[in-house]
Amino acid sequence: MSLVPMLDLLRPAREKGYALPAFECWNSASIYGAVAAAAEGGFPLILQASPVEYGTMGGADVLRRIAELYADRFGVTMALHLDHGSTLEHARECIEAGFTSVMLDASTASFEENAALSRAVVEMAHPKGITVEAELGHVGVGADGATAESDDWLTVPEEAERFVAETGIDCLAVAIGTIHGEYRSTPKLRLERLKAIASLVKGPLVLHGGSGTPWELLRQAIALGISKINICTDLNKAYLHGINAAQETLNPGVPGVFYRQAHEEVKKKVLELTRRFSGQAE
Ligand SMILES: [Zn+2]
Repeated sequence: MSLVPMLDLLRPAREKGYALPAFECWNSASIYGAVAAAAEGGFPLILQASPVEYGTMGGADVLRRIAELYADRFGVTMALHLDHGSTLEHARECIEAGFTSVMLDASTASFEENAALSRAVVEMAHPKGITVEAELGHVGVGADGATAESDDWLTVPEEAERFVAETGIDCLAVAIGTIHGEYRSTPKLRLERLKAIASLVKGPLVLHGGSGTPWELLRQAIALGISKINICTDLNKAYLHGINAAQETLNPGVPGVFYRQAHEEVKKKVLELTRRFSGQAE
């Protein structure tokens, strides 16, 4: 079983009104835990990595080979996505490595520049059947939490419609009040704005900054058209929780046993969030 284009997993999600989490991965253990969860739950999996993360694994091709081996071993349907590439070279590298979806994040550039770069990625990716995600508006990081409270960086619905038409991208990441990393206060999602975007953009909509966002808000966002929710901090926290627990009781001289709990925590988190986002559990 080879990897599938991310759009194959997200199109039915948008049509039927559920979402899939997209899990960040950074080492083989995080991949193993996530794939084992997908096998146990019987669901497809979206794994993603930024250049920093696949860089720590030795390269995009290394990540792709490991991810595909696990997917084959467990019989899991998987899409592998470049998260927050910042240059056309990142997109090219991941396309050549066999990723099935790519995102070049030019969300801090002007509309025209973002559109031109996104169109260039579409021209590279689509002939190979690879999905393209882009972001309009800008989802900031916890440290500059102002972006979550100010309206300045939010996605403008009419611009979103024009952006998708002009670029041909498959999935649009929207800025509606979430942020990456840790929240300093409860986020305020602009659900009316999301509703307006969803009425104009019929493809899958993506929410970055899913970690720490209250479920009640995510539930409403999914009902309005969000089909992919990015999860990074929550998964890494689960992993670290497993390591911290091991440190209290286990001998690090036996790494195989020592790290087992971290694998299990990742698996548990992937099962929990996928069941919840896809409507299999509250
Ligand atoms: Zn993001």
